[in-house]
Amino acid sequence: MTPALSYDDVLLKPQYSDIRSRSEIDISAELGKGIHLCLPIIASPMDTVSEHSMASAMSDAGGVAIVHRYNTISEQAAHIARVETPALVGAAIGITDNYIERAGACLESGATFLCVDVAHGHHIVMKEALRALRKSFGKRIHLMAGNVATLEGINDLADWGADSVRCNIGGGSICSTRIQTGHGLPGLQTIFECAQTDRDVKIIADGGIKNSGDIVKALAAGADAVMVGSLLAGSTETPGEVYYDRDGGRWKTYRGMASKEAQIDWRGKYSSFEGVASRVAHQGPVRAVLDDLEKGIRSGFSYSGARTLTELQTKAIFVEQTASGLSESGTHIRGRTR
Ligand code: IMP
Repeated sequence: MTPALSYDDVLLKPQYSDIRSRSEIDISAELGKGIHLCLPIIASPMDTVSEHSMASAMSDAGGVAIVHRYNTISEQAAHIARVETPALVGAAIGITDNYIERAGACLESGATFLCVDVAHGHHIVMKEALRALRKSFGKRIHLMAGNVATLEGINDLADWGADSVRCNIGGGSICSTRIQTGHGLPGLQTIFECAQTDRDVKIIADGGIKNSGDIVKALAAGADAVMVGSLLAGSTETPGEVYYDRDGGRWKTYRGMASKEAQIDWRGKYSSFEGVASRVAHQGPVRAVLDDLEKGIRSGFSYSGARTLTELQTKAIFVEQTASGLSESGTHIRGRTR
């Protein structure tokens, strides 16, 4: 068995830098077929993250959101139509029932690209769906697909027609796939594996990203962009109300789309569940959250002496850290008085 690493198991070695200002650093991502992100962050297609408000705000900030598919076709299309005409916005679709009709309605409403959104994407039904989507909508539309955890997975999805692939199975903060099924691969290891692809396909590191440091690690390991849920879930722009606890704390609901709660809401019952429902602290407008993440990412590029994503990926030197290294890496002041 080979050891498999995740975000907290590694650090990037600081290196000589001749970058005088962080504004010299270009953190943009080119995903192809008209998708250029000035900020390489994608908001997850989840019903507690991405509807029209999040989509508009993400696009304004240089990222993009994928409007979730846990609604009727006309509801999803209406969310997409409310995003300004030149803005970037993705639309999630499934791989069964009326997904072709859903895709068509979303594209007509202004979706820039489609995201074929399945928990276990390395699957024969994904192959059939990607082929059918290409047949219906042609070569020019960007198809994102996933999720996969392996090099074979990303290669197959690329061969079946995906332009970008969401990589990571079981790593999301609200995900219980590994507990329920025993399957998955630590998130960063998935990126190391998938980055070995020789196909013309972009890598989206999806789930388990806790801070800007993890974003830098994902990009350095080979990702083109990251997809995040929990980091954005407390923003004003997510669907759902802010609620208060007894101590005056302000919260928003955040839940896995395969949680019992989400399944009951969108199809009246649940079958097997692979996610949980939780809450995150309300944190105000998403723009402020993204600004902080962006500063951390730029600073991260600078510590590797990298001005672009390609430079970061070429220069990055990963080291494994021990348990004491990890505890030293977190803030660890113990309230000393002298
Ligand atoms: P986070 O950024 O760690 O909160 O993870 C968000 C990611 O978790 C999403 O982009 C999905 O890939 C994944 N996800 C969403 N809902 C579920 C679920 O119910 N079970 C497993 N994974 C999920």
